[in-house]
Amino acid sequence: METKKIFLTEDEIPRQWYNINADIKMNPPLGPDGKPVSPDMLAPVFPMNLIEQEVSAERWIDIPEGVLEVLNIWRPSPLVRAYALEKALGTPARIYYKWEGVSPPGSHKPNTAVAQAYYNKEFGIKRLTTETGAGQWGSALAFACSQYGLECKVFMVRISFDQKPYRKTMMATWGANCIASPSSETKAGRDILEKMPDTPGSLGIAISEAIEAAVTDETGQTRYSLGSVLNHVLMHQTIIGLEAKKQMEKISEYPVVIIGCAGGGSNFAGLAFPFVYDKINGKDIAIHPVEPAACPTMTRALFAYDHGDTAGMTPLLPMHSLGHTFIPPPLHAGGLRYHGMAPQVSQLIDEGVLEPKAFPQMATYEAGMLVARTEGFISAPETNHALACVVDEAKKAKEEGKEKVILFNFSGHGLIDLGAYEQFLAGQLSDYEYPAQEIEEAEKILEQYPKPEHIKSR
Ligand SMILES: *Cc1c(COP(=O)(O)O)cnc(C)c1O
Repeated sequence: METKKIFLTEDEIPRQWYNINADIKMNPPLGPDGKPVSPDMLAPVFPMNLIEQEVSAERWIDIPEGVLEVLNIWRPSPLVRAYALEKALGTPARIYYKWEGVSPPGSHKPNTAVAQAYYNKEFGIKRLTTETGAGQWGSALAFACSQYGLECKVFMVRISFDQKPYRKTMMATWGANCIASPSSETKAGRDILEKMPDTPGSLGIAISEAIEAAVTDETGQTRYSLGSVLNHVLMHQTIIGLEAKKQMEKISEYPVVIIGCAGGGSNFAGLAFPFVYDKINGKDIAIHPVEPAACPTMTRALFAYDHGDTAGMTPLLPMHSLGHTFIPPPLHAGGLRYHGMAPQVSQLIDEGVLEPKAFPQMATYEAGMLVARTEGFISAPETNHALACVVDEAKKAKEEGKEKVILFNFSGHGLIDLGAYEQFLAGQLSDYEYPAQEIEEAEKILEQYPKPEHIKSR
């Protein structure tokens, strides 16, 4: 029998995270005065130990024992060869995936939730606030907070709050308090509700509320936690790619195509950045972050300075952005609906190191169905974007008759997203192309801000 899964023992788990800031040059985040933000300006929002990681230029950062003890519940995660998928596609490509659906909340997100809860606890923080879209991040942080005895408050995008009850139940089971956003608990929420009482909400709005709730807490023992986009988050996720590298070494393989879906960029970066390090040091690898055609941040939006949230409370970040006033298209059933993209991912796209792809919704669900019927796992709607790209690359390999090694991140299972599958199976989903006019309007709004430089890191 051929080897299906490649494991690492618990002793072989990576002991350090990879910080890509050591290897690329970045435009700095800017404050309200247009000047680079200093670490102490972020102190009301994040604990100083995480701010230090955010701005660090050290290439390798030690993973504390207290973090490894919790990651240990499910890590190292398996690397799996997708034989059945290869066979169904008739491709000569060898397809491997890193299976992140084995964590308690069912995705890659606890890799950073656990680290963030740990550092907040170390810093003496008692309570974390955050936002969540479909609920994966909220449930990941709820799980992590329960492991370290922290309180957790989650602002959940209204439409998902109404449509996705089971994630709420997971959060409640882990002891978190979850409310619908926009809410009347914050000024940011009340302002939006006054203008748009029936709004479905958005991640940008929920982020504004969660930051406000943290910085206005008078005890000083509340901080905010973000599940993607920021450098420390991407860094905590690099354990995925570092494990994958060791696992591939064990079977003398090395990928030439690397694929991950990208919402804010964290699971993609987590798998890809340790290989980006190899690419900037001369390896020939094609690296694809994948997004929905309905929310084309990387493939169609400007690389510009923009806020991470709707109310404009965050610093200006250099990133591909559809504009911070973006409200996701209603026809779209599948995750990855943030207006921006991690600055490090955006920078590497601008430099041509990463080649982003966009896929229409129907192709992503078709790929998800194929994987469910071959490899067996029902994937998260977000992951389906990576799968559509994998199918595409495997077909290309077949046309070219090439034995490529493809590695992708299976970022999570879809067992709590079956509503979307139900809609797909009932023929209720369709493709949706984001209107060019919306992009032009966002570009006009972004004109008010400074322009990032097009940097070549080497
Ligand atoms: C949240 C989520 C994503 C998208 O977030 P990133 O920060 O871009 O990784 C992708 N897949 C799954 C399963 C998720 O839960």
